Amino acid sequence: MFSIPKLLVFFLIILLVWYGFKFIERQNHLSKDRKKKPKRESAGDSSKFQKDEVEDLVKCPKCGNYFSSGSSCTICMSE
Ligand SMILES: [Zn+2]
Repeated sequence: MFSIPKLLVFFLIILLVWYGFKFIERQNHLSKDRKKKPKRESAGDSSKFQKDEVEDLVKCPKCGNYFSSGSSCTICMSE
């Protein structure tokens, strides 16, 4: 039989392992971002352009194609 104190300890251990894992994962992401950043900065305005392009994508209600909101659907236009 599990007693409540044992369950609490078990739960705490799971939480500690979970947060430990998350912390390590976040550290890995941070170190990766630090490595990537110099490359992005050297690329200049291209990173901004890519970001805008992703944010402005709109799904075409007719064919499901994704296109930038500034223009119309390339597939429906060609037909
Ligand atoms: Zn379309």
